[in-house]
Amino acid sequence: MLQMIAPLDKTIKLSVVIPCYNEEEVIDALLARLVPACEKQVGKAYEILLVNDASTDNTWAVICAANAKNPLVIGIDLARNHGHQLGLTAGLAFARGQRTFILDADLQDPPELLADMWQKMDDGADVVYGQRRTRDGETKFKKITAKWFYRLLDSMTHVKIPKDTGDFRLISRAVLEALQSMPEQQRFIRGMVAWCGYNQEALLYDRDKRFAGETKYPLKKMIKLGLDAITSFSVKPLQVAYIIAFFTGIFAGLALLWTLYVFVTEDTIPGWTSLMAVILMFSAIQMFVLAIFGEYLGRVYMEAKQRPLYNVREVTPRKATPSNTK
Ligand code: UDP
Ligand code: MG
Repeated sequence: MLQMIAPLDKTIKLSVVIPCYNEEEVIDALLARLVPACEKQVGKAYEILLVNDASTDNTWAVICAANAKNPLVIGIDLARNHGHQLGLTAGLAFARGQRTFILDADLQDPPELLADMWQKMDDGADVVYGQRRTRDGETKFKKITAKWFYRLLDSMTHVKIPKDTGDFRLISRAVLEALQSMPEQQRFIRGMVAWCGYNQEALLYDRDKRFAGETKYPLKKMIKLGLDAITSFSVKPLQVAYIIAFFTGIFAGLALLWTLYVFVTEDTIPGWTSLMAVILMFSAIQMFVLAIFGEYLGRVYMEAKQRPLYNVREVTPRKATPSNTK
């Protein structure tokens, strides 16, 4: 099933999508900086989509008040907490603009960078992603785990997923549509955008502290995001069985030779040699069969995602037909 997506409305130049979970303290401050940034760029031709990911505080009331004040601010209230990535996906489904700007609610991603991202897109980029030069106000633990996580991910996948990025980015309509045509359940959006291809460019920035409140990404959610990322973009963990099978095979071969040697040179308990031979041979065979299973499982998993097979950037005019071509 394809993801729902609102039809393009050419009068809207910019859609902004922001997932919000318990962000009552930050939304007003966010809009106070974001609205002027949007107006400076596109006048009134924007929409700001605030997705309330079933917050347990007053976030929804704050969003409704913002909508009453400025109808270009639109609230989307999810029926339960689905997490950051699905909240974002829901917001993207409502975006009608020519370009879509994604940021977090907590002002860690400066809204004013819209101008620089816009310029890069005017110059031909389809995706301009914010890449963190520095991260202010985050724990050493988070910085170190994030750094190593991106390097591990990079070594495991064929898709070049940029390091030290979040979902802070400006994407073109073509990329938005490509992204929403990926129906997978476990969504690691920064990786999926990378998978789409097109011209992707980085914009280096210094990540600010959270404006107020505390992180909505406790360790448990971070681990889930990390696992989603690795399993969505790599079947390498399944292929570990091959490596084990290889070494088990070598070990079994050597151990078999040794048991035969002991059988010939020393008195062994009757049955020991044959028992060892059977155990060694079968454990090697079993590991090998598991590796084959893993390979097929990996393929079934990739098929099950039902990703589009390719994305086309452009086609030259096709005026010629056999009848008018000499
Ligand atoms: N968020 C969400 N649902 C959740 C958790 C987080 O919509 O279940 C939103 C949150 O409101 C914020 C963004 O996702 O706009 C990123 O969360 P946060 O800033 O807490 O993460 P961190 O910057 O600490 O990694
Ligand atoms: Mg944050």
